[in-house]
Amino acid sequence: MSCRILVDRDDGRAVFICSTSDVAFGPIMESVVWAMTFGKSLGCDPRGIDVNDLIGRWGTFFSEHHECRCGVIIPQVVDGRARTMCDDCRELERIEAPCGKKQS
Ligand SMILES: [Zn+2]
Repeated sequence: MSCRILVDRDDGRAVFICSTSDVAFGPIMESVVWAMTFGKSLGCDPRGIDVNDLIGRWGTFFSEHHECRCGVIIPQVVDGRARTMCDDCRELERIEAPCGKKQS
C-alpha cells in the first residue's frame, strides 16, 4: 500500500510503482538514487499527482540537478551559485587541501 521503486537490472533506470495495484507510473528515471531523491522532493505521494504533471516535474528536476561524484543528487545552482559537489564532498576537499607552507 505504498509507492515503491522498480529498477531495471540491465540499465539501472527506475520507475515508481504502486504496490497496491502493481502498476508502474510516471517517468523513467536515471537510477534508483535519482528516483528516491525526486520522490522526496515532491513532498507527497507521487500517486496523487497527475501523470503528465509528474512527468513535467521530473523533466524540471532532472534539468536542475546533477549527480555529485559520491552519487548524491544535488541542485546545480544554490543561492545563484553553480554547485558541482555536495556539502560532504566540499568539506572533504577542503580537508584534503594542502595545509600551506612547510614549517622550517
Ligand atoms: Zn558528494
